[in-house]
Amino acid sequence: MAIDATQPYDDSNIFARILRGELPCRKVFEDEHVLAFEDINPLAPTHVLVIPKGAYVSWDDFSARASGAEVVALVRATGQIAREAGLVEDGYRLLANTGLNAGQEVPHLHVHIFAGRPLGPMLAR
Ligand code: 5GP
Repeated sequence: MAIDATQPYDDSNIFARILRGELPCRKVFEDEHVLAFEDINPLAPTHVLVIPKGAYVSWDDFSARASGAEVVALVRATGQIAREAGLVEDGYRLLANTGLNAGQEVPHLHVHIFAGRPLGPMLAR
């Protein structure tokens, strides 16, 4: 079910549990501010989720409240993961579903990286 991007942070969400080590993930990157791991239900040959370690519900919440260091870390990590996976030459897509109309399901900001095949039109018409 889609979540409201303005809701308060819920510490029991699935990505908070992954960050606390309560649930496993297939990690692809970690630093002080960022964790990235493979999506459990991949929609493309490469489907990675990049998340801040801080408690941010959505892109809206993160862009409003995160420190400069956290914002830089998320952006740099996303680019580095794509480069190191060799995705730049053929291209990749970033997606951050935010709130109800976007169908955001997990109430902890995550940026999807999709790659590995032609990804089709940006949105279904
Ligand atoms: P959203 O629709 O919120 O943008 O995307 C949520 C994503 O989280 C989906 O692509 C879904 O497959 C992924 N996901 C949900 N639960 C888990 C989990 O427990 N582990 C991992 N690795 N991915 C998950």
